[in-house]
Amino acid sequence: MMAIFAEQVLTADGWFRDARVVLDAGRIVSVTANVMPEPGDERHAILVPGMSNVHSHAFQRAMAGLTEMPGPGSDNFWSWRDLMYRFALSFDPDQIEAVAAQLYVEMLEAGFTRVGEFHYLHHARDGSHYDDIAEHSARIAAAAGATGIGLTLLPVFYAHSQFGGQPPGEGQRRFINDVSNFARLLEGAQKAVQSLNHSRVGIAPHSLRAATIEEIKELQQLRFDGPIHIHIAEQMKEVEDSIAFSGKRPVDYMLENSDADRRWCFIHATHMTDAETIAMAKRGVVAGLCPITEANLGDGFFQAPLFLAHGGEISVGSDSNVQIGVAAELRQLEYSQRPLHRARNVIASKGRSTGRTLYDEAVAGGGRALMHETGIVVGMPADFVSLKPVFDVGYRGDQVLDAHIFGEGMRVADVWVHGEKVVAEGRHRDRERIGSRFAGVMRALLSV
Ligand code: ZN
Repeated sequence: MMAIFAEQVLTADGWFRDARVVLDAGRIVSVTANVMPEPGDERHAILVPGMSNVHSHAFQRAMAGLTEMPGPGSDNFWSWRDLMYRFALSFDPDQIEAVAAQLYVEMLEAGFTRVGEFHYLHHARDGSHYDDIAEHSARIAAAAGATGIGLTLLPVFYAHSQFGGQPPGEGQRRFINDVSNFARLLEGAQKAVQSLNHSRVGIAPHSLRAATIEEIKELQQLRFDGPIHIHIAEQMKEVEDSIAFSGKRPVDYMLENSDADRRWCFIHATHMTDAETIAMAKRGVVAGLCPITEANLGDGFFQAPLFLAHGGEISVGSDSNVQIGVAAELRQLEYSQRPLHRARNVIASKGRSTGRTLYDEAVAGGGRALMHETGIVVGMPADFVSLKPVFDVGYRGDQVLDAHIFGEGMRVADVWVHGEKVVAEGRHRDRERIGSRFAGVMRALLSV
């Protein structure tokens, strides 16, 4: 048993003042407001729930900042993807583990307590299978284990280059599996996370380009207890290709041809009609938004107000991992909406500020998307973050989150995952060792 006393705690029932949160075996056993600290309590200013990062491709962290030079033609998502494919071909398993570990340290230091790793870089450089087909999944699991971040591992099924089951391209050779190989990979991934506490394995058909609807249905018959994620409607070209293939836009097509429901997360869901947006919200499919990556890649804008008005649940992910920040993702999400609607406080709800609404929605939706319980409430896992005001000016309640997200007024101090403190005073407990290994790997990757 241990107890944390904080002056302000954001619980599932709103802000508690002068509250004691008691933990036992990684879970919250009581939350009591308006009390005095007891001897032995850890003291903090502000405690908020840990955030889920629902969408990450760990290896892409190594490319951050390396794709910002203009090419000979026009630069867009597809020219970026060519660079990313070339980069993906260079990694070995040790390098993947080192980059993932550094990324997870950064996520924890930012206040993300769980990651959904949408993992598609499976095979050896020449496309052959490692002796253990799930070698890279095991490396991702090892990186999560070394850093203490909660993991929902989403091994990716990738079989084709284009709608209609077109054969894959040479540059995609490290990603490719048929359904029976994928079944072995999934089993391997499940074994790889066995020793990790609080992990879960779902599946991720990469996109409607890479997986046919028939294959997606076969994948759903495999044995797994986690969520199902898919990239969808990220780019206009994808929408056009979908219409050329089936006469339907991608989200329309998925909703009509699958049982997508609350177990599913659609990543990006950018280019949707109003009818698609409403239908997706009503089916309970979570939107996995990646605001910084979507801005970096020039993807487009999510229809947030319409989706939320119809009961849709949103979550955030750092996707290409070009920048890691809870406040930064939520700020970009709101700021992507303001010019679009020529309005302020677009994602705000009655009685809650914009920062509070963004934070609450992303905690709840993120938990659903990764199938993990969230929130500071009795019985939940003790995944939380202490924030420290940069200046002690007396922010109260929702002002805390508005200052954090919009005003750079807070810094992440301590982070607990299942009751274990992995970040103290802003620094991960193993930051030096993991950072120096990462730097060595980066030098090797950049020297070839
Ligand atoms: Zn992605």
